[in-house]
Amino acid sequence: MNQEDSQDSVTHDPVTHDPVTKIEVYLVDLKQDKPYLGSLREGETVNESGYFVRQGNRTVYPRKNRSLVVKITTTDGVIGWGETYGLVAPQATAAIISDLLTGFVIGRDPFEVEAIHDELYDLMRVRGYTGGFYLDALAAVDIALWDIAGKIAGVAVAELLGGFQHRRIPAYVSGLPEDTLTKRCELAQSWQERGFDSLKFALPVADDGAVTELKALRETLGEKARIAIDLHWSLSGPDALTLAKELSPFRPWFLEAPVATEEIETLREVAQNGGERIAVGEEWRTVYDARHRIDRKACHIVQPEMGHTGITQFKRIANHAETHKLEIIPHATIGSGIFLAASLQASAALKGVTSHEFQHSIFGPFRHFTGDALECENGSFNLTHRPGIGVEPSEAMLECMTLIPS
Ligand code: MG
Repeated sequence: MNQEDSQDSVTHDPVTHDPVTKIEVYLVDLKQDKPYLGSLREGETVNESGYFVRQGNRTVYPRKNRSLVVKITTTDGVIGWGETYGLVAPQATAAIISDLLTGFVIGRDPFEVEAIHDELYDLMRVRGYTGGFYLDALAAVDIALWDIAGKIAGVAVAELLGGFQHRRIPAYVSGLPEDTLTKRCELAQSWQERGFDSLKFALPVADDGAVTELKALRETLGEKARIAIDLHWSLSGPDALTLAKELSPFRPWFLEAPVATEEIETLREVAQNGGERIAVGEEWRTVYDARHRIDRKACHIVQPEMGHTGITQFKRIANHAETHKLEIIPHATIGSGIFLAASLQASAALKGVTSHEFQHSIFGPFRHFTGDALECENGSFNLTHRPGIGVEPSEAMLECMTLIPS
């Protein structure tokens, strides 16, 4: 569809770069033996659809980790890669991209990436699709368009965003997927010996509770280590305040997602009165989600998640956080590495980023990209200056990808 044929009522500037001609969506099998966060606990069973529910946070996970990857091609053959969550009902997000978004992105100039994002966002506001699967679909397309723009310009996405503000990004080890506290402490210690002095553990798999877990890790790792706790939205306001006091002697780095995301006033009370630093943001899709919390001083640290936000909204959330002098510690969850690469590029251009999550259990065994863009050594991430987001799937990665028919 060229510009003259377009039925779209919006008038676009003439295309000055080769336009998008094809969008493909792939399901990626991340080939992992262990479920995310470690083996299944008592009462956790996999149902016929391949899902199980963690008792500790009442959240559904697939037994096999997977992701959704988008490949966008321009008329002159430049390829951009994007990615979003594929954990749950990935066919839903794939259908949004293929059935709805593709028709509005084909023929467009990839350099209009933010304008395209805003137009697509506007299309579904009236129907209430201002989050969830719809924004996940937008995120994948957005990352791929930024990747193309960088490749056409011959610069890294961080340069498109204003330039590198960091040489490397400090990383924290996320999760200790072992079955006993003794083994989890040993795993934490082994990471510390490799130069990683910051980590986060998850309450749903801290079998004897957060205080016992933090105390043991503090004794193992010493006073200097930074130890954060992901509370997975599981507590009431009073329980969160009590727990914060009990954890205090063992000096947590930050407490993540203490209460239900809907309870913004409760979150504010915990942030203001709990005495510990509160981090939230992994479930946000847009700066509008961020504003509700940041403007009310309901958190100290924001954790944008590239797999949900894309580069455009990630940047807007982070800029809003910077305006309010908040720390930015991007979240990074289950994916192939494409949205991690995008997150590192966006983080590289943001002065307020102080650390970045490192999902060692995902990216240790699954490292299927050419180049060294995702290398994480001696406590920090490497930053690539290659064009775009800086990663290309290897042959091994392509073998894990299945094209979803549109
Ligand atoms: Mg979390």
